[in-house]
Amino acid sequence: MALTRRNFIKGAVAGGAVVAGATAVSTPACARENKTMPPMAVGLLYDSTLCVGCKACVKACRDNNDTQPEFSTEEKLWDTPLDISGRTINVIKMYAEGTSDHKDQERNGFAFIKKSCMHCVDPSCVSACPVQAMRKNPESGIVSYEPADCIGCRYCVAACPFGVPQFQYDTATPRIIKCQLCRHRQAEGKIPACAEVCPTGATLFGPVTALKEEADRRRALPSESVTTFARKTVGSTDLHEKKVANYIPHIYGEREMGGTQMLLLAGVPFEKLGYPALRDRSYAASSETIQHTLYGGMILPAAVLGGLVYVAKKNVPNHHSEED
Ligand code: SF4
Ligand code: SF4
Ligand code: SF4
Repeated sequence: MALTRRNFIKGAVAGGAVVAGATAVSTPACARENKTMPPMAVGLLYDSTLCVGCKACVKACRDNNDTQPEFSTEEKLWDTPLDISGRTINVIKMYAEGTSDHKDQERNGFAFIKKSCMHCVDPSCVSACPVQAMRKNPESGIVSYEPADCIGCRYCVAACPFGVPQFQYDTATPRIIKCQLCRHRQAEGKIPACAEVCPTGATLFGPVTALKEEADRRRALPSESVTTFARKTVGSTDLHEKKVANYIPHIYGEREMGGTQMLLLAGVPFEKLGYPALRDRSYAASSETIQHTLYGGMILPAAVLGGLVYVAKKNVPNHHSEED
């Protein structure tokens, strides 16, 4: 077909209509909501007010996950990790202020705090991983890592709002390490090692719904009253008695980033314990909304381009004669 003035005008109008249509369709963002927790989700309740800082959980975590000790003193006599790292996936840290005389008190007090993977309901690490090396189990909700699939991009490291995934920079075959809720132990019918060994029940394993009920029960008790606390697993008959601490009115992980399967209780504000104040909407929900919008915006221009190519091809003259 020859490129006539009439054909040119037709093509231009058709192309313009496609562009206009594409622009109109691509403008609205396809926002997605936070994902919801699987009904059978399992997790941990860590109660800072019950923790005595013995670090039995750190040792048990090492023994059950083949990680090597870390030394932070010159003598190198004790395993003293200061934070999670390429060698340490569970750590107990200490808060101290003023005279540090009173446990679980913000002023002139001290407290212990656990740091390990939160097993987010809508995990950023899973959303960011381009090859699905980070996965969330649809039943247990455990966020796991498959080294065989990992390409070492470390997007998960950058994406996690809690700074959890760690890249092993100092090994010949580096990989990511993070808590996987001892899924290998759970596959054998055991509970996570940190909950198994905790002498006070500060780290407690169980279904997240039951852990949340237990957290609510504790927070509703009057401080200084005496109650029983389960060890190892929520609802277990392995109990011990203790005075109830003065909890702050906040269950960390109940809402942060769309919720997490590790819940935390404390007597000191969580920001002071190293846990950031985070919004309810997960980063994954936000970033995937943006991605979908961008991809939508790319697919539609591709359709526009295709339309223009089609129109142009139809209008390219196959001989040099012009009607006009
Ligand atoms: S084992 Fe229990 S009490 Fe000991 S440091 Fe760990 S959480 Fe705290
Ligand atoms: S805490 Fe970080 S590593 Fe753990 S599930 Fe959430 S985003 Fe992933
Ligand atoms: S669940 Fe297992 S891997 Fe995770 S912190 Fe506890 S012991 Fe370590």
